[in-house]
Amino acid sequence: MKYQRSSALFAEAQKVIPGGVNSPVRAFKAVGGDPIFVERAEGAYLYDADGNNLIDYINSWGPMILGHAYKPVVDAVIDKAKRGTSFGMPTEIETEIATLAVSMVPNIDKIRFVNSGTEACMSAVRLARGFTGRDKIIKFAGCYHGHSDSFLIEAGSGAVTFGSPNSPGVTAGTAKDTLLATYNDLNSVSRLISANKDEIACIIIEPVAGNMGCIPPKKGFLEGLRELCDEHQILLIFDEVMTGFRLAPGGAQQLFGINADIVAFGKIIGGGLPVGAFAARAEIMDFLAPIGPVYQAGTLSGNPLAMAAGLAMLKELNGNPGIFDSINKKTEYLHRGLDQVLSEGGIKFTINRLGSMISVHFSENQVEDFESAAAANNNTFKKFFHGMLDQGIYIAPSAFETWFICDALTYEDLDRTIAACGKLVENLK
Ligand SMILES: *Cc1c(COP(=O)(O)O)cnc(C)c1O
Repeated sequence: MKYQRSSALFAEAQKVIPGGVNSPVRAFKAVGGDPIFVERAEGAYLYDADGNNLIDYINSWGPMILGHAYKPVVDAVIDKAKRGTSFGMPTEIETEIATLAVSMVPNIDKIRFVNSGTEACMSAVRLARGFTGRDKIIKFAGCYHGHSDSFLIEAGSGAVTFGSPNSPGVTAGTAKDTLLATYNDLNSVSRLISANKDEIACIIIEPVAGNMGCIPPKKGFLEGLRELCDEHQILLIFDEVMTGFRLAPGGAQQLFGINADIVAFGKIIGGGLPVGAFAARAEIMDFLAPIGPVYQAGTLSGNPLAMAAGLAMLKELNGNPGIFDSINKKTEYLHRGLDQVLSEGGIKFTINRLGSMISVHFSENQVEDFESAAAANNNTFKKFFHGMLDQGIYIAPSAFETWFICDALTYEDLDRTIAACGKLVENLK
C-alpha cells in the first residue's frame, strides 16, 4: 500500500496544527510512521486519501457501532440541517432523545446533554462534589475519563501512549484531590476510603476498562465498589462513554445488574456527532442549574444536528435489540480466529474481550490492570499494527486501545482479518 498523499497532507497539517492532529491518539507516535488521512467511509470500510480501502476496527473510537455513513443517521442530520443548525433555545428533539435514553438505561430519571465525553465526566464529578459536599474523587490507574484536569492523573489511552499519564498544566492543588486505585483491586479502594474518611465524593470507573486495552471487571469487583459506596455515602459514577449503548441497550449497568449513581455517556449516543451526556436519578440531577446550585452549561449543548444523529442511532439500537447479539457473535468469532492463528504461531499474547470490545496484548500473563497492560511487548504490537495495516486492516495505533466492532462487518471481513493476522505471525517473533 502507498500512503504518499496521506504523508503529504500530514506534512501540511503539521505546519498549522500541533503534531498535525486535533487529538493525539490519531498520530502514529506509538507505532511509528505517518497517520492516514481519511477521505470517506461507508459501512465497515475506510477510503483514504491515496485510494486505499481499509477494514475499520476503530469506528471513530466507538460511535459508529452500525458502520459509517449509516443511512438513517445521515438522513436525519441532513433533514435537520436544512432547518437551521443551532438556536441556543430549547427544541423538541432534545426531549425526544432524553426520553428514549432514559427509557433504555436502567436507574436514571433525567439526563443532560453536553458536547463530548470529557464534558460529561467532568460535569458528573462536579455534580457528585456538589451533591455530597466533598472534594476528593477516586479513579483507577489506566482508566481514561477525558482530558479535564482531575482525570489526567495516571490516565489511560492517549495519555499513556505518549508517556505523559500526568500532564503538565494540571496543578498540584487539583491533583491532590484525585486518589488513585488499582483496577480490579477492591483492597486498594478500601485503603483510600479509610485514609480519607468522609472526604470522598465519588468513585469514577470504566465498568469495562477500554483505555488500557480491554480489561473486564473481575467477578465481584463492581459489586464490591457498589457496597463500599453505599457504606460510606460515596457516589458511584460509571463512565459509560465506551460501554453505553454498546454492551447492552442499557450499557454496563444493565449487563452486570449494578446500579451506578451517575452515568456518563459519549461516543454512540451522538451517532458520530459531538455529543456527551450524564444522567442520574432525579434527586441528584435536580442539583444542577437552573433548578439546583451546581452550574453546568453549553452554547451548543443539545445541538439539533447532534441530537438528530443521536436520536436516529438510539432508535435503531432500541428498535433492533438483535444488533447487540449480532456484534457480540462477530467479536467472539474474531476472538476465536485470532486466538487460533496466534497460538499456532507460538506468539505470546492475551486477548481480552467483553461483548463487542476486544484487544490483543502481546503478553503471556493475564492483563487485569494497568501494570499488567503496560508490561506487554510494545515492539511486537508495532509490528502487528503495521503488518495488519499493510494488508488493509486498520486497528488503533496504540496497544492501549480497544478495538470496536461494528455491525457492518461481515464474516468475510472477519475471515480476511484473521487470515491477515495468520500471515503476520512469523514476523511477530
Ligand atoms: C472517549 C472516552 C472519554 C472522552 O470522551 P471525548 O468525547 O473524547 O471527550 C471519556 N471516557 C471514556 C471511557 C472514553 O472512552
